[in-house]
Amino acid sequence: MVSSYTTTCIYKERLCSNAWEFKLKLEDGKSLDFISGQFVIFDVPSVDAPEDLQPRAYSIASSPSEKNELTFLITYKEGGRASRWVDEMLKVGDQITMKGPFGAFTLKEDDDKDYVFIGTGSGVVPFRSMILDLLEKEDSRKIDLFFGVRNEERVFWKEELEELASKHSNLNFHLCLSQPSESWVGLSGRVNKVVPETITDFSNTSLYVCGNPEMVKDLKQYLLELKLNPEQIHLEGYV
Ligand SMILES: Cc1cc2nc3c(=O)[nH]c(=O)nc-3n(C[C@H](O)[C@H](O)[C@H](O)COP(=O)(O)OP(=O)(O)OC[C@H]3O[C@@H](n4cnc5c(N)ncnc54)[C@H](O)[C@@H]3O)c2cc1C
Repeated sequence: MVSSYTTTCIYKERLCSNAWEFKLKLEDGKSLDFISGQFVIFDVPSVDAPEDLQPRAYSIASSPSEKNELTFLITYKEGGRASRWVDEMLKVGDQITMKGPFGAFTLKEDDDKDYVFIGTGSGVVPFRSMILDLLEKEDSRKIDLFFGVRNEERVFWKEELEELASKHSNLNFHLCLSQPSESWVGLSGRVNKVVPETITDFSNTSLYVCGNPEMVKDLKQYLLELKLNPEQIHLEGYV
């Protein structure tokens, strides 16, 4: 059920050049029941006129088992309302109103297919929640997470995801930089190129793609050309 909640910011940290992570605690010990992959809508104030509120959607980054404290990540869009709010205004102790949960970009767990998660920028957020959820449930299916960002300065959650992958043999983490520096030794190129180079057989996979609408559209086109069953493909564009 969708409800409105008053929350308090209990943590905020800049993780890289353009991403902030923050945690919100629901007041009065309330809890939010949600499914990994879902999002909430915040009332976001304008930095220049804080009483002017507008809605913005954000995916929940934490596991559904954490119902009272939720983690979020925002990447900066030049001059954007929420981007400026999290950069210039939000601080620990602030109250934020949100409503949710919303969304159907959630795991279809009733088949035995391996998971391929493809996220660019903040599009990786729902996959963090899904991965934590699957690992907590000891789901042993193979999970391949492709995380695409422009360059080293835009990388976040690398150590955390690498550590999870080192502890769980079914999780493979592929960080792809589209415009890396010369010293970068990892995967380079857009995820649209790296995914098909890494996974050659998609027949027993469920693919989940999230990020900017152009990338989502390109990958969808590619996957459909491979004659995959459309039911294997799940998409979320962050508009
Ligand atoms: C289901 C869903 C989940 C999402 N989850 C996340 C998430 O977890 N993390 C995340 O970072 N994002 C997420 N998003 C995207 C998020 O909702 C916002 O769209 C994003 O953060 C930008 O919001 P903003 O208020 O900063 O920018 P906006 O104010 O919406 O502006 C966007 C861009 O347009 C420009 N702009 C605004 N107004 C004008 C104008 N009048 N003329 C010209 N340019 C203009 C701004 O400068 C900015 O660059 C999600 C979106 C959806 C739909």
